[in-house]
Amino acid sequence: MTKKIEHFLAEQKPATPCLVMDLDVVSDNYRRLRTAVPRASIYYAVKANPHPSILGVLAKLGSSFDTASVAEIDMALATGVSADKLSYGNTIKKKSDIAAAYARGVKLFAFDSEAELGKIAEAAPGSRVFCRILTSGANADWPLSRKFGCDVEMAKKLLIAAAKCDVVPYGVSFHVGSQQRDPGQWDAAVAEAAWLFRECEENGVTLSMLNMGGGFPTRYRRTVPGMQAYGNAIDESLRKHFGNRIPSEIIVEPGRQMVGSAGIIQTEVVLISKKSADDAKTWVYLDIGKFGGLAETMDEAIQYPITVPEHRTGAPVSVAIAGPTCDSADILYEKADYKLPADLEIGDKLEIKAAGAYTTTYASVAFNGFEPLKTYIV
Ligand SMILES: *Cc1c(COP(=O)(O)O)cnc(C)c1O
Repeated sequence: MTKKIEHFLAEQKPATPCLVMDLDVVSDNYRRLRTAVPRASIYYAVKANPHPSILGVLAKLGSSFDTASVAEIDMALATGVSADKLSYGNTIKKKSDIAAAYARGVKLFAFDSEAELGKIAEAAPGSRVFCRILTSGANADWPLSRKFGCDVEMAKKLLIAAAKCDVVPYGVSFHVGSQQRDPGQWDAAVAEAAWLFRECEENGVTLSMLNMGGGFPTRYRRTVPGMQAYGNAIDESLRKHFGNRIPSEIIVEPGRQMVGSAGIIQTEVVLISKKSADDAKTWVYLDIGKFGGLAETMDEAIQYPITVPEHRTGAPVSVAIAGPTCDSADILYEKADYKLPADLEIGDKLEIKAAGAYTTTYASVAFNGFEPLKTYIV
């Protein structure tokens, strides 16, 4: 936890649960990525955390923005950046939303199907389009495979077809899966993209942009490689597969890496109990759960580090950790081996670390009357 967050919590004693974000960490994360992938333009994936202060700081640092809806486009534009710094990266868009984005000046669109290409050509004529290809999502804690992208043969056909529509076939994109712990996972996708660039060229279609998506990790319970390891692996793959014809425009779309480590959630212990006299597990219920913003604990995929007050020094005991709502799916961790001190008490404040990404945006409006997660910026 940063000094700024620590001071804020000690002095303001905000009601819990709440997310506290340190903007200096966001700036540091931006610079770290900037250094690691110097060839790439950075398009921050707005969905990870769209707080206006975060978007503002990133805009000032020179970031572009990857958006998935007209509302996200408006949030990005509210920072004062021009529409040519925006990409509409969702492959699933209503035609009316494509038209609304186009009316705001957005001219860069993702697609992965013939029908979506048709919608873009009609609603946003003259725009640049890029085709998303499938990846396996292997080694990612939060894979994004299957739902997005098409295979390379289809991508080739679609990009060649795009040249005959009223759009500019501009490039190729992929996403290797979120919280991707293996820097080597970009290689296969870069190889496929390079193949597509060559195949399209042979058919008279010159592509110029490669979008390597997000996937860069935040440190949760498990260690992850440093940013530079990702930068080095990506650069090596680009050289290996594109040779001296590396695309003139390279894009990365970080979400989690940019904001994950910048935030902590403070939560209060509501109940500590056992299910039977000889229950091996202690159940610890918090005032935040899956519906309050911790949706990425689904299948216990994202395992946040959790810390207790310093004076709780009792022996660690095995716990199941759950949220406060009346839904039995609202269990955060039961199989993951979480341990908390035996002297933990109801009313204790716990800190859920690295919680700056994919938390406020996943909080429900008011399930059981619990309010959406509040954000404080320091
Ligand atoms: C969510 C998303 C991202 C960000 O992914 P992270 O793993 O958080 O970096 C980037 N690009 C697209 C298209 C996305 O949907």
